[in-house]
Amino acid sequence: MPRIITSLLLAGACWLGTASAADATINVVATIPDLAEFARRIGGDLVEVNSLATGVEDIHAVPMKPSFAVLLNKANLLVVMGLEMEHAFLPGLLEAARNPKILRDAPGYIDCSTYVTVLDVPTRLDRSLGDQHPLGNPHYNLDPVAMKDAARAMMEGFARNYPEHEDTFKKNLAALEADLDTNISRWEREAVPLKGKKFVSYHPDLVYFAERFGLDAFGTIEIRAGIDPTPAHIEELIGRMQRDKVDLVVRERHYPAGLAETVAQRTGAKLVELPVMVGGVPEAKDYTGLIDYNLRAMLKAVQGGA
Ligand SMILES: [Zn+2]
Repeated sequence: MPRIITSLLLAGACWLGTASAADATINVVATIPDLAEFARRIGGDLVEVNSLATGVEDIHAVPMKPSFAVLLNKANLLVVMGLEMEHAFLPGLLEAARNPKILRDAPGYIDCSTYVTVLDVPTRLDRSLGDQHPLGNPHYNLDPVAMKDAARAMMEGFARNYPEHEDTFKKNLAALEADLDTNISRWEREAVPLKGKKFVSYHPDLVYFAERFGLDAFGTIEIRAGIDPTPAHIEELIGRMQRDKVDLVVRERHYPAGLAETVAQRTGAKLVELPVMVGGVPEAKDYTGLIDYNLRAMLKAVQGGA
């Protein structure tokens, strides 16, 4: 082969090589910041990750922005909590994004709930009730042990789509799991004074947190997930709380303050305001910060702090 043609081919191959390297960044979109952080840990330098929610929203009603469809259109992978948590906003966005790689049931759609032991699974499925948790409670991000399950599902999803990087993903997952294990031991020690403490929250988004750290999720201000309270429900709840001496009322920060304050005042329970996702308060800048913040806020309340 003439030398000039060989050189041209080599140059072409080099150019192609460069182009594919530049294109090689894996675009990941996560629905919530907690999953985005885990995706960055597992994907490392191979990924660029964006989150749809910033952490301050109601996850069942994240306001849609045109930029979301653009992000999803360019995504190679989509990482979701699953269990219909994103039901209110994701199906419409996926339709607008026109990206077959990340449609439900496509390989790029990674449901992180696969290995999670789901709590509050309804005995009958009846969407007509308007329940926001038709497949069971989806708020497992507040349980760091469940999030280890989520991390494993995420790693497997990454490796399924990019088997050439499986070793890197596995190594990164192992490092993430080790960090989580260290923190989980510490959190379980710190949470000891919370054992058996009863709380009412606005929405049932702390049931995994309660299960992990030994609290008693006594009831909710909502009648059911997504069903607004009625005066009769609140009176009945207050009566039960007074009888059973409930310690805490949790207002998740995206729910209205007034009713939670009233319930706390009338029952003598301490009011605690908590974020439910990374980014929900400035201190919860990462996953460790989120669990730290929630545990410490509850500890402060039960130990007589302000
Ligand atoms: Zn919910």
